Amino acid sequence: LGRHRDDNRQTGFSYNGVDFNQSNLNIFAGLCAVDIPEHVEMMLKALEENGQVCTRMGAYKPRTNPYSFQGHGKGCLPWVFEKAGKHGIKVVAMEITHEGHIEEIDTCLEKLGRPTGVMLQVGTRNTQNFELLKAIGRQSTYPVLLKRGFGITLNESLNAAEYLASEGNANVIFCLRGMKTEAGQPHRNMVDFAHVPAVKRLTRMPVCVDPSHSVGTREKAPDGILDVMHATAQGVIAGANMVLVDFHPKPEKALVDGPQALLMNELPAYLEDIQLCHDTW
Ligand code: PEP
Repeated sequence: LGRHRDDNRQTGFSYNGVDFNQSNLNIFAGLCAVDIPEHVEMMLKALEENGQVCTRMGAYKPRTNPYSFQGHGKGCLPWVFEKAGKHGIKVVAMEITHEGHIEEIDTCLEKLGRPTGVMLQVGTRNTQNFELLKAIGRQSTYPVLLKRGFGITLNESLNAAEYLASEGNANVIFCLRGMKTEAGQPHRNMVDFAHVPAVKRLTRMPVCVDPSHSVGTREKAPDGILDVMHATAQGVIAGANMVLVDFHPKPEKALVDGPQALLMNELPAYLEDIQLCHDTW
């Protein structure tokens, strides 16, 4: 990924008709966790109406508490992928927590005739799960979104990305999602988007920011602007190439991270503001 080799600098890739590189910007708004078909449908319909071709949808959820909802797993894949295809979604970012999930996703997509594509997401809790990284790196069908580890150095997280590349998959996007420290309060994590240009300088990877998991709340500043929007703007102005952001038609009914989800009626202005930040900078 550019840190340990001196060959031609590849700064991006195309997947399922969508370009990912260190210059452009792709928005992945969607549900943190898949819950019921009605909510997924509402989300995807809103994305289509707003010209979006990417989304985030969690089927396998890594939870701190074993009694919390763990995601619907492979059971929801067929209807999620079918709906995504129906609404013109080309790439669904979906976290996996076990190498067996790659086959579950692949088998399902193959059976359905590949109505959409999937970007495999490695969550912050698995940034140093080296066997998982190696397994994901050995397949080249799906690009990877690798989250920064929330309690390790940037350099250690970048080395985790090398595990994917050294096994054969260099189609990797690196995602900043905040660092876990009490000092970040009242936000859930300390926003680390000042590292966007550093990652772009040090590697060839397009860089994603996840304002939802960084900030962890849908509170607003006194100016009426959502903290998640402020954080997004910071990331995009710093040069982010992708934004992963939680929305939900009924956050109070969301099974995971409802309190940080933005509302459907906030989507158009959110998208417009991001584009403005990107175009201005
Ligand atoms: C997520 O994006 O759904 C998630 C759990 O994020 P993180 O791994 O950054 O906590």
